[in-house]
Parts: sequence; C-alpha cells; structure tokens
Amino acid sequence: MPAPSSVLLLLLAATAPPKRPNMPVGWTWPPSPAMRAIGAECTRALDEAELSWRRGPATPKIATPVLLSPMTAGGVTLVPLRGKGSYPMDCHLARALHAVAPSLVEQGVVALGFRTLHEYRTVRKRGRSTKILSRHAIGLAVDVFELHLDDGRVLQVERDWASEPRLAQAVAVFADSELFRTPLTPANDPHDHGDHVHLEAHMRIPLE
Ligand SMILES: [Zn+2]
Repeated sequence: MPAPSSVLLLLLAATAPPKRPNMPVGWTWPPSPAMRAIGAECTRALDEAELSWRRGPATPKIATPVLLSPMTAGGVTLVPLRGKGSYPMDCHLARALHAVAPSLVEQGVVALGFRTLHEYRTVRKRGRSTKILSRHAIGLAVDVFELHLDDGRVLQVERDWASEPRLAQAVAVFADSELFRTPLTPANDPHDHGDHVHLEAHMRIPLE
C-alpha cells in the first residue's frame, strides 16, 4: 500500500495533461553532436542544390543558422513584409522550401510574403503567450501572409482564403511534403491563423 503522498502523486500524474515538449524529438540546446551532424549534412545539400546561401550569425536557438541571399529558393522568393533586414533560418527550413518550390512554381506562385521567420518567443494561443517555446525560436517556421502569382496578383490569406482556392492549393504542397509539418491555416486553426499560414519544416534528429 503506497503512502498517501504517493497516491496523490499518482493521481496527479494520471490527471495532469501530458507534457508534450514542442521541440523536435531529440532536440537539445546547445545542439547535440547528432544535431550538428544533420546540420552539416543539410548545408552540404544546400551546396549541392546550388542555393545562394551563407552561414548566419549565431542566433538563439537556431542549430544551423543560414541566410539566403537573395531570399530565393528554387524559383520562389521570400518577401519580408516587415521590410528589409536579416532573416536567419535553420538550414532545414531553407532546404525544405527549396524542395517544394518547383511544385509552387508549377502553380504560378513566385513569392511568399512573410512577417515572422525566426523570432525568439513562446507559442501564442488565443492571443496569449504560453510557456512553450515556439518553433519560430528555433528557425524552422515561417508565417506566410501573402502569395504572389506570376500574373502579378497578390493573394492575401486573410482577405482571399475563402474565395481563392489557389491559396489552399499552394498550402497543400506543404501539407503533402514529408519535409514539412502540417501547416496551420484559417481552415484548421481559424482563431490563431486567420490571417496567415504557419509553415514549419521538420528536423529529424537521429536518436542514439
Ligand atoms: Zn507561426
């Protein structure tokens, strides 16, 4: 028969919401040898793809910070809606964007207008910040507000999501790619993603 305090602990363990760390499985800070190894493999892939990139400045907590210059991957340009600046991202996001870009180009998408790329912050739910570190903080996520088409039109997620199927079609490219997690959109998360689409690359860390 366990002591009463143990019973209480067991009860608490049974009723508390499961702890689900938001970071990729195996993610640590500072980056583990396994993370550094996949980072090096990733930058080699950028070289092989002949992406115009350079190493980004040390950025908390991006494991493998890179800068795309110009900010174009595979024919799709990232357009900062907040203006010029330096936009470091993890190599895995750059590589994933490059991989899906041809499918976007096929749909006539030439650019993605974004507001947030790396931002060291926690997750916001219903306008409130939580204690969960955001995937933006580790450079794997980008918030896209606009789609720029090759005919010059600009589709806005907030204004055009309901009337322009091309927005959802473009998002499907990310949803279908195993390099990305499920995008958050006005369709599946209207409260927090009514005006933008959250796109996020996977980082698959080999476990020991
Ligand atoms: Zn986001």
